[in-house]
Amino acid sequence: MTAAHDQTVAGIVTNGTGGIWHVLGDDGQEYEAALRGRLKKSDTGRRADGSIIRDTVYSAAHSVKLAVGDKVRLERDERQRAWAIVEILPRKSRLARRAPGGGKGERVIVANIDQVIVMFAAANPEPHPRMLDRFLVIAEANDLAACIVINKIELVGDRVAHDRFADYERAGYAVHFTSVKQRIGLAEVESALDGRISVVSGPSGVGKSSLLNALFPGLGLRVAEISASVNKGQHTTVGAFLHPLPAPANGAVVNTPGLREIGLWEFPIADLDSCFPELRGLRDQCKFSDCAHVTEPGCAIRVAVDAGDVSRARYDSYIKLRNEIEEEEIA
Ligand code: GDP
Ligand code: ZN
Repeated sequence: MTAAHDQTVAGIVTNGTGGIWHVLGDDGQEYEAALRGRLKKSDTGRRADGSIIRDTVYSAAHSVKLAVGDKVRLERDERQRAWAIVEILPRKSRLARRAPGGGKGERVIVANIDQVIVMFAAANPEPHPRMLDRFLVIAEANDLAACIVINKIELVGDRVAHDRFADYERAGYAVHFTSVKQRIGLAEVESALDGRISVVSGPSGVGKSSLLNALFPGLGLRVAEISASVNKGQHTTVGAFLHPLPAPANGAVVNTPGLREIGLWEFPIADLDSCFPELRGLRDQCKFSDCAHVTEPGCAIRVAVDAGDVSRARYDSYIKLRNEIEEEEIA
């Protein structure tokens, strides 16, 4: 028995460029590996009825789209003196960008994320609730849990910050209020990150890098690294990068091309209401099962908005996003 063939390692893909993927092994070592020509791929997906597909298939590597966050198995090829990725384990979640123009061209940006953390500042830059809603909807549309961090609260005070984001707590989101500058609320965010793989997203300048560096000095994030990916003008080819949290913390943070760039292309418009937790529970009470909650009679959602039970600002975001998706469909 040659030991060479037995050498196999499990790990997680941290980033990749030009066919070479970086993998953090379960043994703590970093590996560089290419995809093997014939690959065992355990695919997960969803059927039209919502049930989950779990198939193990063999496919040619060129037809497989490996993503940052994928759990893989590596084998050592002694002849090539290199490591090869021989198997992709089932994905439990994915953040994907649908192809503009439809088709099956979904591109998985990150796999196996546990949550999306959407970060805004209480001021400087001034928060735009519409943009926050858009980030949350994109997370929901990808079936990912989301929570909110509001930083720089010392600029407006605790009370004002809480009041301004009360709609989100009412909708059921966890909202963490922080000041990196005054080291307020940091432990709460730390425990939200621990043990999970999180995408941290939000506009530039809100303090994402500052917060992560304050929590995990060993992370060595360059300030520009996270910020650059969310700049509006930035091209969308920037790949995702997974940063394992330094011990004793467990888990990882991922910076991706901004969630905004991931967008809502080809998102089924009829499902948009289910991306607002506070609308999800009401939609079944509308008179028409295909109610769009715009002008239809007997709309339970509009009744709830008029009664003040559902935030009008959040409802307005729903309408605005609906219009945007409609315009894309026509375009
Ligand atoms: P990022 O673009 O979201 O990663 O934001 P940065 O971490 O680069 O921070 C942007 C600016 O906000 C920097 O000048 C930070 O010093 C500042 N900043 C970060 N946290 C706070 C805070 O809690 N309060 C205030 N006033 N400024 C902060
Ligand atoms: Zn309705």
